[in-house]
Amino acid sequence: MAKNLTSREDDYSKWYNELVIKADLAENSGVRGCMVIKPYGYAIWEMMQAELDRKFKETGHQNAYFPLFIPKSYFSKEASHVDGFAKECAVVTHYRLKTADDGSVIVDEDAKLEEELIVRPTSETIIWDTYRKWIQSYRDLPLLINQWANVVRWEMRTRLFLRTAEFLWQEGHTAHATEKEAIAEAEQMMNVYAEFVETHMAVPVVKGLKTESERFAGALETYCIEALMQDGKALQAGTSHFLGQNFAKAFDVKFASKEGKQEHVWATSWGVSTRLMGALIMTHSDDNGLVLPPKLAPHQVVIVPIYRGEEQLEQISEVANGLMKDLRAKGLRVKYDNRDTQKPGWKFNQYELQGVPVRIAIGPRDIENGTFEVARRDTLSKEVMPKEAIVENITALMDEIQNNLFDKAINHRKENTTTVETYDEFKKVIKGKGGFVLAHWDGTTETEDRIKNETKATIRCIPLDGDNESGTCIFTGKPSARKVLFAKAY
Ligand code: AMP
Repeated sequence: MAKNLTSREDDYSKWYNELVIKADLAENSGVRGCMVIKPYGYAIWEMMQAELDRKFKETGHQNAYFPLFIPKSYFSKEASHVDGFAKECAVVTHYRLKTADDGSVIVDEDAKLEEELIVRPTSETIIWDTYRKWIQSYRDLPLLINQWANVVRWEMRTRLFLRTAEFLWQEGHTAHATEKEAIAEAEQMMNVYAEFVETHMAVPVVKGLKTESERFAGALETYCIEALMQDGKALQAGTSHFLGQNFAKAFDVKFASKEGKQEHVWATSWGVSTRLMGALIMTHSDDNGLVLPPKLAPHQVVIVPIYRGEEQLEQISEVANGLMKDLRAKGLRVKYDNRDTQKPGWKFNQYELQGVPVRIAIGPRDIENGTFEVARRDTLSKEVMPKEAIVENITALMDEIQNNLFDKAINHRKENTTTVETYDEFKKVIKGKGGFVLAHWDGTTETEDRIKNETKATIRCIPLDGDNESGTCIFTGKPSARKVLFAKAY
């Protein structure tokens, strides 16, 4: 209990909340379900954004920005879309306040909007209303746009980062001449997400398709990536939707094909949100605090001087500054914490709590011996390294830590993925150790709902890779094309 954190074993959910707050990532705000993302948390989100943005541009997308408000009439044009989002929409009805006779501020009923505005929960409708003006010919396609924005979904049960009423995300919205191209785009973006989450976040994911009941409102197919958290619950980490021609038809977006025919455009949309922060925290962190993969750590290395008096600090600072310069020259993000307002022990605690991958301590004896004390956050191990090898060692450590975190997460997932053949086995696993459960399912929403009602486990996805042997449904005994992935989920 070094950091006064509740342990994961005692209360996983309490551990998570305490960790987010104590590591200074985010806090609750005065607005129900909405969080304040603090500088350290925001710095990690910015690193995620930068890499994702690079990947989006590399695959031909451009950024643009659309309004926060969506006229209600736009929203109702695509029937299943409005059905899916109606229950969680914030609506703007007025545009002015006034001071009442008793001095209180009230809504000015004379300033009622003629048409109510929806605060975007997602932007398909306003974007497709715009695309009608942008797309006339096959020459205007494909149109590959991404937006970084905030959205609002009036969620009832919120958790910092994992599920908030307002969240930050990116939403890609693309338009294509053919069905085949649009499907290829949706698959490509699922793969881009998977690659980012695995190589940068060191979080292994299962790629798959959502079942009909879990599909995005208005999509023909939802591709997703699913991750397994340390408590055995699944987290949807990203989605990519093939929207068919639904939005093009609803918003009358047509193009003249090469043959001169008027055709409706094919669409995709895809998004990841600040929920990824939750996935990152929950996958790697321990009872001492946050554990960050080097690729997303705002500070990869922190140097702490251990000294008595000005003279020692001066000597140590000279060495520390030299080391910082050498490490930075290798592209590492390094901080030298020479504050005299905090003791070394306090700093050690703080950086452990905040998940800095490597801490280097330098004391007078190190100066004498030409050594450094290097501590790894992932293994909590310490080693003394000679100055001749330090830059090379630390650089190599970055990859080693990144890989170690991924391997640990893969092993955890392996240990917590169970294949079952019967419903009894299924119930036992879901109730017991939890985790991912692979089982045959007859493909109907009815069976899916009944299993969900009885066990709280849902079908996370129909995996795209792995064992695709047919069999019989664990619940009904009817034929099943392949095993699907069940879990209790966030
Ligand atoms: P969707 O538009 O529903 O496919 O969601 C797009 C992305 O946003 C997915 O990666 C979801 O995991 C994530 N997401 C959905 N709802 C929330 C929420 N309330 N808070 C944070 N992230 C969310």
